[in-house]
Amino acid sequence: MSESRIPTDALHRWVDELWLAAGCDAREARLTADHLVGANLAGHDSHGVGMIPKYVLSWLGDQLQLNQQVSVLHDTGAMLSLDGNRGMGQAVTEQAMALAIGRAREHGVCVMGLRRSHHLGRVGHWAEQASAAGLISIHFVNVLSKPIVAPHGGYQARYGTNPFTIGVPVPGQAPLVLDFATSAIALGKVRVAHNKEVPVPPGCLLDAAGHPTEDPGVMFPPAGAPQGALRSFGEHKGYVLAVMCELLGAAVTGGHTIRPETLTHEHAVWNNMLALVFDPARLGSSTSFGHEVEAFVDWIRSSALQPGCAGVQLPGEPERAWRRARAEWVPVDAGTLAQLDDAAARVQAARGSSPGPLSRLAA
Ligand code: NAD
Repeated sequence: MSESRIPTDALHRWVDELWLAAGCDAREARLTADHLVGANLAGHDSHGVGMIPKYVLSWLGDQLQLNQQVSVLHDTGAMLSLDGNRGMGQAVTEQAMALAIGRAREHGVCVMGLRRSHHLGRVGHWAEQASAAGLISIHFVNVLSKPIVAPHGGYQARYGTNPFTIGVPVPGQAPLVLDFATSAIALGKVRVAHNKEVPVPPGCLLDAAGHPTEDPGVMFPPAGAPQGALRSFGEHKGYVLAVMCELLGAAVTGGHTIRPETLTHEHAVWNNMLALVFDPARLGSSTSFGHEVEAFVDWIRSSALQPGCAGVQLPGEPERAWRRARAEWVPVDAGTLAQLDDAAARVQAARGSSPGPLSRLAA
């Protein structure tokens, strides 16, 4: 399937204008554009502007609520429990993380629970917010949407792609950011493969009868047909991490775990997140930390390489390489472009204004 190039600045402006037209205030529209375009720039098209059609349908279905602030439910200083009030994840999570960062600066550590956020996007974005403040963060997230991942040993989908993320600032260098879905592949990447009409790598999917398949179409069956399921990464290891993301991200924060009775709307994606944010300097290791990181990185990079491998990378390095490669323009496949044009038309119909079809900006 063909691919268009959209200049990065123009894409950011289009997303910003779309959400302004939908009724977001200037901060929310800008944060949403920063985050979604930022995910494309980091190479994660699965969590970039291609999410907009889902967000628009969720908003039109009165699920996603615009212009929300977080509410503080419990506050013991270093522990904060927040409600995202079904708000735009890109805005309420920024606010939640800013509160957690403030508390971690004050107390050395903050355990922050955020419940009832609409899709909060690329979780690495929030780890980067903490690491820009010199803080380590660890994130456990659950996903309330249609279940799409099968438990290890089962083949019926029971939960979501539950991301797990760790950000570590390194003095004088870029942060280390581990940030992945606990499924073998993110659903957004299956959507991108489906739109591009290409197979997914082996080991990622089961069809509706439980057989391994590389066909992304099993996750997007015709109406009424049964859906396949994603597998966990790393066999039982990804599965048990996903269970912990569900329980720490949702049960511990006061959010809902995924069950038939906690699902509300087919287009909404809700996230609950537990974030542990802390100041490594308060552990007294500041003088040795930089040296230890540098020495370890030198050691692992000295490994002989497998055939065809250009080098050993660190967590967060691939995203930085994508940012360099995509500074000028972002590729958008034809299927996603058509869905984005449709999303703009829906905003136009609902609100009487929109930035117009994205496809007119495509080269
Ligand atoms: P992925 O499989 O691309 O893995 C990304 C992680 O692995 C990053 O930390 C990256 O730096 C590191 N990495 C990749 N290749 C590497 C290499 N060769 N050497 C060293 N490190 C390497 O990520 P994914 O599972 O497809 O997840 C994509 C995004 O989806 C993440 O940002 C995640 O937060 C997001 N997500 C969000 C939700 C949600 O509900 N909000 C759900 C699932 C996933």
